[in-house]
Amino acid sequence: MLTGDELERYDRQIIIFEGRAMTIIPGKTACLMCVYRGATTPEEKFPVIGVTPAVIGCIQATEVIKYIVGLGELLSDRLLIYDGLNLKFTEFRVKKDPNCEHCGQLARGKK
Ligand SMILES: [Zn+2]
Repeated sequence: MLTGDELERYDRQIIIFEGRAMTIIPGKTACLMCVYRGATTPEEKFPVIGVTPAVIGCIQATEVIKYIVGLGELLSDRLLIYDGLNLKFTEFRVKKDPNCEHCGQLARGKK
């Protein structure tokens, strides 16, 4: 449980309540490197409210079941952003980068 001081310190409610989901099929769809190339990892750790990973975990579990049984439209080449603070879902189309240093090589069988 976060105290008011901790919340004020972080002043990043959108991060605390934000989660992202995307289905990656190696060699076929965009990978995280395609989407976040050049992005850096924050050095500072920040708290995440417990329900955020629960929401994202349910989405991920749903995607696995759909993949296994071959039903529905997977979240591949799409990035879903969950904003728990405003209870909104936003979706972005993402493209596989043919020159991606990770999946580009994987797709060509070099890894
Ligand atoms: Zn990639």
